[in-house]
Amino acid sequence: MNTNGRYSRSRTLFRDAQSVIPGGVNSPVRAFRGVGGTPPYVQSAAGAYVMDEDGNRYLDFVGSWGPMIVGHTHPAVLEAVQETLKRGFSFGAPTAGESRFARMIIERVPSVEMVRLVNSGTEATMSALRLARAATGRDLLVKFAGCYHGHADPFLVAAGSGTLDIGVPDSPGVPKAVAAGTLIARFNDLESVDALLQAHPGRVAAIIVEPVGGNAGCIPPVPGFLEGLRRLCDAQGSLLIFDEVMTGFRVARGGAAELYDIRPDLITFGKVVGGGFPIGAYAGPSSIMRQVAPSGPVYQAGTLSGNPVAVSAGIATLELLDQEAYRTLEALGQHVEDGLTRAIREGGWPMVVQRVGSMFTPFFRSEPVRNVDDASDADMPRFRTFFHAMLGRGYYLAPSAYECSFLSLAHTRETLNGFLESAVGVLTGIMQTERV
Ligand SMILES: *Cc1c(COP(=O)(O)O)cnc(C)c1O
Repeated sequence: MNTNGRYSRSRTLFRDAQSVIPGGVNSPVRAFRGVGGTPPYVQSAAGAYVMDEDGNRYLDFVGSWGPMIVGHTHPAVLEAVQETLKRGFSFGAPTAGESRFARMIIERVPSVEMVRLVNSGTEATMSALRLARAATGRDLLVKFAGCYHGHADPFLVAAGSGTLDIGVPDSPGVPKAVAAGTLIARFNDLESVDALLQAHPGRVAAIIVEPVGGNAGCIPPVPGFLEGLRRLCDAQGSLLIFDEVMTGFRVARGGAAELYDIRPDLITFGKVVGGGFPIGAYAGPSSIMRQVAPSGPVYQAGTLSGNPVAVSAGIATLELLDQEAYRTLEALGQHVEDGLTRAIREGGWPMVVQRVGSMFTPFFRSEPVRNVDDASDADMPRFRTFFHAMLGRGYYLAPSAYECSFLSLAHTRETLNGFLESAVGVLTGIMQTERV
């Protein structure tokens, strides 16, 4: 698939890595299993570009899977990090930056009054779930098939078709008893949620949802879906958790909660909030958050939580993200969507582009994608061909048909015009071949 030579150093590094790191990578999607071939080994990045070990340069649509929303190595973030580094790396003691950062998050996200910092999105969701269970005195969790909430046991359940009311683990090692506490509903389908709540009255601690589906490709909520979840939670005394690890500070200044005007009980953050450094956070009204130790009994701790270097990167990143920045990101997103949609319409291609703000996915399927089953129905061989042809032309899209691509403030209309021209050329070729 990959052209010989173009990735020779990456290929050597990848082969070598497989003997010392499982699959050669520290997070599975990086291994390119969804598209085949060799992942370019990244050597450096600046602005909207990443450079690989073979000297290839790519316009980057991955952005470290979302965090690099202001572009790579932005001078303001770099300077903030360098200044902090000189004063120390980590203290295991409180610093002024942590409350400053918490205030910035509180000021941006309407329902949030208190914030606890952790080190990853996974930590944020597992901590939020524990808190929700403690706050309600209930055990069950409702999640949606195709939504990803990190790799903690209770979330590694997506349910095959037909297993709508009892969880089955996705991974060996997840105890059946833990998976059984996770009930699986269909994204964008309120009736599937209602059915679960009716079947387990008074037992569901929380419904957790990606307010914009981002881990099966970009799947916006249908009108009324999030409002319906809020209503169902209120009726049942369950908490609504928005997992905004991807959407937080990405789709709007106050994230999806602001964009769709919903007040969740708890919100989890990650990715953008750390500006490329390992930060996660969970947040909510003080009535719930005060139950976290040491102000309350719900235990959760972290040696490196609130790390000063990461916090300074987070602060510097959020400071760059004013309303003007989100208008720019929306305009860039619209430009990509318009360009691709026009070509799809003119070509009569069986494709749709789905987008919210600066996150988007081209699906190789003619009907809109409303849930993970729809996403799986796409033409995967065509996606792989498209992905590799674009990579070869210097455009690094998300290397899986089930992921979003991201734009940053470092992308410009001009560079995106080049991308659109290449994409249309590649797609024209692909669509002339038979559906595989
Ligand atoms: C990436 C992601 C996570 C997991 O975050 P990590 O930092 O990788 O642990 C959780 N939820 C959502 C919605 C995500 O996109």
